[in-house]
Amino acid sequence: MRVVIKIGTSTLAHANGRLNIRRVEELCKVISDLKNSGYEIILVSSGAIGMGVGKLSLKEKPQDIPTKQAAAAVGQCELMYTYDRLFQKYHHTVAQILLTGSDFKNDDRYHNFQNTLGRLLELEVLPIINENDTIATEEIKVGDNDTLSAMVAASVGADCLVLLSDIDGLYTADPHKCADAKLIHNVKELTPEIMALAGDAGSALGTGGMKTKLHAAELCRDAECEMVILNGAEPNLLYDLFEGKEVGTRFFAKGDRA
Ligand code: GLU
Repeated sequence: MRVVIKIGTSTLAHANGRLNIRRVEELCKVISDLKNSGYEIILVSSGAIGMGVGKLSLKEKPQDIPTKQAAAAVGQCELMYTYDRLFQKYHHTVAQILLTGSDFKNDDRYHNFQNTLGRLLELEVLPIINENDTIATEEIKVGDNDTLSAMVAASVGADCLVLLSDIDGLYTADPHKCADAKLIHNVKELTPEIMALAGDAGSALGTGGMKTKLHAAELCRDAECEMVILNGAEPNLLYDLFEGKEVGTRFFAKGDRA
């Protein structure tokens, strides 16, 4: 089974941008174990800008493009260094792939990406993908990693995309504002009612929100790929998910499809 796991900045870092060491260690352990048990895993990881902010001790997420891109250049290095070190502990080799939106539109680059990724999986390497933030300008960027991870999942024929987020899944209303908001466990169809649940608030360091997750769901539906939103604060939920337990919000579960 081929699985793309998207890790958001809020899962990797504390609110000040510094690495959440316990969380990341747990996550790398669980992902290594899933890989050992036979899953083909591709990570799409955010965190470059957030970790750059932490490493450069900037007071807040920069607003201007050159500082954002500089933070990404510093943070991407730190991010891969961290993954390399932690996965090494479980004898897994990582590879970095940085993409922009235009790489999906250019046939040659797209095929090269698919070939490289395929070969990395054959070599049992763990590919870790992010947007190439230092060169991605408005015209060519994908813009958020929920969408990027769905594009990756579609292009590699993944069976499932898991979005690790700072919430448990899709709720019937904003759980921060509405006490009786309920978690929706299964979404079979992206009805107008479901699409209307997309608020537009992102987290402090990342860019996502429910809007980008539902957009990712549209891409997954078209690619016939299952998608799950899970709380990244509890990496063990990944075990529950693959044991078939009802966790997070599952879109287009295999059994639901005709
Ligand atoms: N590529 C951005 C980063 O690594 C994150 C984009 C996102 O979180 O959606 O900081």
